[in-house]
Amino acid sequence: MRRLLLVNALIFAVLAAAVTLAYYGYSYATEVSYREAELASLRELAADKVFSVESSILRDDDKMFRALDRHLSGTAAPLQIEELVNNLGIHLVSVFVLDDKQTLVPGGYVSQRRDKEGNKEGTEFRDWFMKEVLPQLRLHQLPLRERAHLHGTWEGKDYLWSMIKRSWGDKVHYIVIEEDLAHLVGVIFPQFFPFDNGHAKRLFEVVDQRGELVYTPVTFSFGSDASSVDVSFVDSVDGWSVRVTEVPDKEAQKQVERKRLIDSLFIGGAITVILTGLVFLALAIRRERRANELKSEFISNVSHELKTPLSIISMFGEMLANGRTKGPEQATEYADIIWRESVRLGRLIDNVLDFAKIERGKGVYEFSEADVGEVVERAVDLVGRRLTTAEMAITVDIEPELPLVKLDGNAFTLAVMNLIDNAIKYAAGGKKIELTLAKKTIDEKERLVLSVRDFGPGIEPAEQDQIFERFYRARAVRLKPIRGSGIGLALVQHIARAHHGDVTVTSEVGKGSTFELWLPIPDQK
Ligand code: ADP
Repeated sequence: MRRLLLVNALIFAVLAAAVTLAYYGYSYATEVSYREAELASLRELAADKVFSVESSILRDDDKMFRALDRHLSGTAAPLQIEELVNNLGIHLVSVFVLDDKQTLVPGGYVSQRRDKEGNKEGTEFRDWFMKEVLPQLRLHQLPLRERAHLHGTWEGKDYLWSMIKRSWGDKVHYIVIEEDLAHLVGVIFPQFFPFDNGHAKRLFEVVDQRGELVYTPVTFSFGSDASSVDVSFVDSVDGWSVRVTEVPDKEAQKQVERKRLIDSLFIGGAITVILTGLVFLALAIRRERRANELKSEFISNVSHELKTPLSIISMFGEMLANGRTKGPEQATEYADIIWRESVRLGRLIDNVLDFAKIERGKGVYEFSEADVGEVVERAVDLVGRRLTTAEMAITVDIEPELPLVKLDGNAFTLAVMNLIDNAIKYAAGGKKIELTLAKKTIDEKERLVLSVRDFGPGIEPAEQDQIFERFYRARAVRLKPIRGSGIGLALVQHIARAHHGDVTVTSEVGKGSTFELWLPIPDQK
């Protein structure tokens, strides 16, 4: 009954654990899709920013190209780019105007670049550009009037070149602008990506192709937990990206951490419950399979046990009936055999019936106050004849004035008889059985202990627990022609436990076994 309750509770717990896991699976999937939507909106924001920054660069380039257009298309000569750059208020480092042969037109180079002393640079940079950079710009491949750009590193420094091909009449010109990256990072980015610490919901930064920060408005990091996305520049500083990071809300973060902890506890608990359930199930299946194997063995054992005394009874009965006896003495002997075997048969049937009742879980005990000593003596009396037949002696030592206990006399007698019977059956060679009933201290409590000791073959240590299982018979016994069904000790254990006691065995192979059946003494229950 208790086992059934336990199984039901376990099934319920496993179901609850499965529901918990399903819930977490569902909420995780929802969270993932919510997070994806969040990231998509961040990506949109970053793309917007990229667009704005690049539009501002393109606008300035356009201004420059258009202004040069006016000059180049007119007849005004020579070209005064420097003036133009200053007038337009555009931030750039240098401008190159080249003819169709890609040579500089007169006055076609202007630079804002200054040396360390603040003096205007000489022709060094111009010459370097013509030699190292110009060939890589592939100006001749440019489509007419379409702005192109190249972002890259030369001699360890970042450069951004914007270029265009123009034609006036039959004249073709190329214009190349060296953009002011220092201005871009130092002025433009801060304009587009400000950060109001404490209020801002998002942080915008710029990273290069290696993921290293090119620009950040803050001096700290939110850690790897904060969600962020990168969107690359496409029309200017290619390879650089705008990185948007969701600024974590401290309070919300704490709540998330708390929730995460609780979630892990629940998920861990659910997994443990399911695993425990599985282990329990595996054990139960193993147990059940073993019980089934033992049960079929039991059926053949019992049938055998029923058949043997029956055939003896019918054989000797027939001899008596036919008068095939040598005299009255032999007739008495035959009758004695018939009586002994029928008693044995009766006991086996009693055992099987009681066992069946217990298996069905029916209340089979009727308790009343009794003197255990008397009950034990009665049991010894009942097996007396068997002892004589087996040529064994029993010594009975019962402590006087033992307290009365509540017990089921019939069940207890059956238990004692089973223990003595086993000693007769298995320890016949030992000749002697010692039975004592006395008060003893077990687990610091005084108990009433019945001990049945024999001097037989003993029981292997590995099997000393198993012999109390229903249908179990020790390996050594199964090989011998000793009759048994494997339910005797299971019954003894059930009876002992029903009396709030228990039965134990201490045994040494080759020396004998002592079975101790103990009962609690009433006021200590
Ligand atoms: P059965 O005697 O019908 O086989 P029991 O449940 O009474 O069943 O005993 C279970 C097993 O315990 C026996 O088969 C035997 O192997 C072992 N056993 C019980 N009593 C003794 C004993 N006194 N000495 C040795 N083995 C014993």
